[in-house]
Amino acid sequence: MLIRIDDIKDGGLSLDFEELPEAFPGLMEIVADGDGVFLAPLKTSLRAVHVRDMVEVEGQVETVIRLSCSRCLESYDTSLVAPFALTYTRELPEVEAESDEEVEISAEEMGLILFEGEEIDLREALQEQVLMALPFRPLCREECKGLCPQCGANLNDGDCGCGQPDFNIKFAALKNFKVKKDKD
Ligand SMILES: [Zn+2]
Ligand SMILES: [Zn+2]
Repeated sequence: MLIRIDDIKDGGLSLDFEELPEAFPGLMEIVADGDGVFLAPLKTSLRAVHVRDMVEVEGQVETVIRLSCSRCLESYDTSLVAPFALTYTRELPEVEAESDEEVEISAEEMGLILFEGEEIDLREALQEQVLMALPFRPLCREECKGLCPQCGANLNDGDCGCGQPDFNIKFAALKNFKVKKDKD
């Protein structure tokens, strides 16, 4: 997962990588925590170009992961595709301060990633892209009905016959409204 700066010619450089998830400690943490299982290698395709003193790297990384639905708790497999655009630089550009105040802006705040030497190591950045693409609340499908709050049945498999929780919620809201009005 290295880009050799010398390989980036005027027309840019196209690269494809394939790497096992085991090569990324941060992804193995996800597995260790029981939050997901990677079912495919990380496939990365990218294009690197020189822009002045900087190197712009654009592409996408994809894999397949098994997650647990946060509503119905069933596990499901989903492909994860994370497009990225990263700008690498050896030195931070000078920032013109508007006042006399000293301004210290970090590489991160500028949206830049620092590198040294003749190679860019993409490992950490790619790992971060995959981690950011993970859903905060995984859903097996957008319209997942979840579990019945009364009997715990998976409502995606059909109605369990416990009644209509939707109706109860609406009824409760209506009741609150009336109580409030009476006080006025
Ligand atoms: Zn679900
Ligand atoms: Zn039920």
